[in-house]
Amino acid sequence: MWRIGVLALQGAVREHIDQIEKLGCEPVLVKSVEDLKDLNGLILPGGESTTIRKLLDRYELLNPIRTLAQNGLPIFGTCAGLILLADEIVGYESPHLGLMDVVVERNSYGRQVDSFEVELSIKDIGEDIPAVFIRAPHIVSVGKEVEVLAKQDERIVLARDRHFLGCSFHPELTEDVRILKYFVEMIKQCHNTSLAKLNSI
Ligand code: GLN
Repeated sequence: MWRIGVLALQGAVREHIDQIEKLGCEPVLVKSVEDLKDLNGLILPGGESTTIRKLLDRYELLNPIRTLAQNGLPIFGTCAGLILLADEIVGYESPHLGLMDVVVERNSYGRQVDSFEVELSIKDIGEDIPAVFIRAPHIVSVGKEVEVLAKQDERIVLARDRHFLGCSFHPELTEDVRILKYFVEMIKQCHNTSLAKLNSI
């Protein structure tokens, strides 16, 4: 059974836990470095990225998460979580985790549409997937190796860079678990690749 952590410092944590359970995986609330032990994947939830960043510093989680990620831990960032993953944030001098080869812009949707729900067609995942946007960021540009999986009104809202998946919206606020299922598939692939590497040594 895959152990999937959810960073539980602030934001939409419970809903991710419910979806993880729905897929028969084991959820782990991550509040300290010890909770990162033996995870197969990690979700960075939505919330407020600057607040989550302060808490990551306070609980000394930023570097341990970055190191695990650089060693191959698959990470899925939703909304504020995508901002934490990005290599570059428009208007900011430095990134937070700086793991995913994308440039993001915070709060990119106008005031009247601060929150809205649409249905997206997502490459490799499916059609009519409900997506809730709440003061959402969008992906302004992606590096060469990054695969764009979905756009909303010409803006990139879901992308994959190696073992990192980032989306602008909140898939966990709907009943639809197809995006999380895709992340679990990524975990399986990464697991098999590292086993194959170990076996070839
Ligand atoms: N606007 C938030 C930020 O910039 C993200 C919003 C969200 O996660 N729903 O961090």
